[in-house]
Amino acid sequence: MLKTKEKYLSGYRKKEISELAEFIAETYCPKNLVNPELIAEKRGISFSQNDYGDYFDGLIEHLNDRFHIYINTWRLGHSYTTRARYTFGHELGHYFLDGHRNALASGEAPSHSSFTNFKSEIYTEWEADYFSACLLMPENRFKKDCVRRKFSFDFLDELSKKYQTSLTSTAIRFADIGNHPLMIVYCENNRIKWYWYSEDFPYIQLLHGRLKIPNDTAMGEYFNDGRKHERTQEVWAIDWFNYVPNYRTNQKFKEHCIPFKNKALSIIWKD
Ligand SMILES: [Zn+2]
Repeated sequence: MLKTKEKYLSGYRKKEISELAEFIAETYCPKNLVNPELIAEKRGISFSQNDYGDYFDGLIEHLNDRFHIYINTWRLGHSYTTRARYTFGHELGHYFLDGHRNALASGEAPSHSSFTNFKSEIYTEWEADYFSACLLMPENRFKKDCVRRKFSFDFLDELSKKYQTSLTSTAIRFADIGNHPLMIVYCENNRIKWYWYSEDFPYIQLLHGRLKIPNDTAMGEYFNDGRKHERTQEVWAIDWFNYVPNYRTNQKFKEHCIPFKNKALSIIWKD
């Protein structure tokens, strides 16, 4: 199913989540890298990091009036990997977001397994994912880092290293609060799973909608011919998007595609 941000999170809800997450990050980790383990400790949430096989990335449980977070190091690697940090932030989202915590505490939605990083089809999972991105990349800090910086893939990579967040979540965060409009497209098995774009991105209709990855794009070349581009590519607006006006048919965009096995993430922007 195709996901767009409109379908999943309203602007109002995103603002609410971002403000709450930033408040928590600045309360507990005002100077340094945001550390989800430290936040859990300060809030009296216990946690364990272990090999739990293939069952979940993370899980939060409410038992005898206490919360406990499980992080699956078998799927995520050590606790300091970007995925483990992200999953921890996601589970904290289930604790800090009122509706989520109340549902857990009342037993209405008992503990559930999370597969994080914007893969889920469930609304509350997207909220927790979004919370995690906002917690690990607090809005004002992130915006300050963007001041007077020109967007490039290397800059995005630099931000993801600084915040120790995955490129996917860093790109999504940048699309929302960075200083340059972006479109992010994620595919699995030659199908678009979701896309996300900045409010002021010039085109929001993909060429084939949810049906098909356009051929003459870096992502299309990967899925069709297995071609990997290490560098940022130039693509025509008309190769990716629908409704490009006639006078802009020669407009060029940049695309940086990161392929991995049967998956690929493309970041698209106008220079
Ligand atoms: Zn979850």
